[in-house]
Amino acid sequence: MKNQAKDKLSFLLLFVLIFFFNGTLIAQKKNKLVVGIVIDQMCYEYLYRYQHHFTKGGFNVLMKNGVNCRNVNYNYVPTYTGPGHASIYTGTSPNNHGIIGNSWYYRTTSANVNCVEDLSVTGIGTISAYGKASPKNLKTYTISDQLKLSYPSAKVISLSIKNRSAILPGGHLSDGSYWFDPLSGTFTTSTYFKDKLPDWLEEFNAHKNAKTYLTDWTLLYPKETYLAADKDESKYEAIIPGKTDAVFPYNFTTFPATDFSGFTISPACNSLLTDLALSAIKNEKLGEDAQTDLLCISYSTPDIAGHSFGPYSLEIEDMYARMDLEIEKLLKELTKKLGKDNFTLFLTADHAVVPIPQMLMDMRLPGGYHASNLKMEELKLAILTKFKSPITLNEINQNIYLNREEIDSLKLDYNAICDFISQEIRQWAEVKAVFTAEQLIEGSENSDIWRKMLFLGYDFNRSGDVLYLLNPGFLPVDGDADFKGTSHGSAFNYDTHVPLLWYGGGLKPSDVFRPIEITDISATLTHLLYLQRSGAMTGSPILEVLEKK
Ligand SMILES: [Zn+2]
Repeated sequence: MKNQAKDKLSFLLLFVLIFFFNGTLIAQKKNKLVVGIVIDQMCYEYLYRYQHHFTKGGFNVLMKNGVNCRNVNYNYVPTYTGPGHASIYTGTSPNNHGIIGNSWYYRTTSANVNCVEDLSVTGIGTISAYGKASPKNLKTYTISDQLKLSYPSAKVISLSIKNRSAILPGGHLSDGSYWFDPLSGTFTTSTYFKDKLPDWLEEFNAHKNAKTYLTDWTLLYPKETYLAADKDESKYEAIIPGKTDAVFPYNFTTFPATDFSGFTISPACNSLLTDLALSAIKNEKLGEDAQTDLLCISYSTPDIAGHSFGPYSLEIEDMYARMDLEIEKLLKELTKKLGKDNFTLFLTADHAVVPIPQMLMDMRLPGGYHASNLKMEELKLAILTKFKSPITLNEINQNIYLNREEIDSLKLDYNAICDFISQEIRQWAEVKAVFTAEQLIEGSENSDIWRKMLFLGYDFNRSGDVLYLLNPGFLPVDGDADFKGTSHGSAFNYDTHVPLLWYGGGLKPSDVFRPIEITDISATLTHLLYLQRSGAMTGSPILEVLEKK
């Protein structure tokens, strides 16, 4: 009897212990907050090239104490901001989410349309066209939508300088997607999301805005500590409005009363966004209840500056030295408020960037410019001569759009026209590959990497009828432009290879070198947030991020 009672007691104890430990494990697993940081135009190697400027508390914490995915690439073209943010947060590529560019040619209105443009809504407190924006063009839902769908009490807040970089991550159901209004120098949203700004944001805008953050841009550290110390004066850099050269210091003394767009090139704009994020965490009470919340932050300034100065400039080196301090500030606050194992943060980029082509040419590296407008005029003439009808509509992002209705009504052979255009384009010296839409669709399983990347970026209604890729190192330009500064958008590694760092949430630190695609981020978040895979998601979870210490 005595032994039986003892056994019963032991069994009960064991049961209590199992229950207790299970409970602890479950509690440990659940994040209070997930923070997604996107840095617009960040090359993977910046983490290492600029590491000598980094403090102990910023990028270094993520690189050393988190999961550092070192071989992450975009798997489609074109590598622009709209498609990048949509792909990170939907876990699929543009052929599924429909964001095939920052803009595309809209056959219905015969005009280019921005990826988040929505003329049925207006900006709050602004008459800026930049406020007329919503996620209506996003064809599938985001991980943030799935979180709101499954757990309505979860909060999703998305913040950026660019409207598309706030709207696409926050998805259709966010509790607040806010972006910078260049007319007022403050943050706004559109009537798609809200009828009025929350009180805390009104308050923030009144005290913290472009005017109050306006400061000169000087080097953070002594000039001799910079890799690009002797590259300040450079003929390759674009000169920003208000300056006569592209050298430090950048004296931002004032802006016109209704145009604060110049502020967005200054690192002070990053600080304004960080402070907005901290204010949102506090006032939206992110991470305060049992339900995991999601905060999306996208820093646009590195891209805006990057286009002017290029990836090897003194300006971009200083931009990232300062970016490190923003990351440090965020990490410090998150750790203080939530504890380091109670939130998970990831940091990535929406694309990287090509070195300035003129610099490549001068260094005798492959690269150059493609005068797309002149070539298009030649092509239109050749089509007119051959088919006796002006059936070419437009070109944008190396997509050539044909008037499909006109071709049908004239009973012309659509495939023959596309083949003719392909053959013409193939003769252009700067072109690497050209495919008709038909070839893309039929060849999707083909092992040709370029065809596959074009296919993953292709949408029948939104994309062109013939698509081409320029050779590595080449950028399209208007024939008469001065060739300063740089851009991105290609299928090549200088545009596709981006950082991906995961931190917090009790994950096991590691460096991951196997290939990872950008669409794997949301597939991983699915499991961190215990959700159904959302919508048209095609990515796979990164198991190294799901492993616990
Ligand atoms: Zn850009």
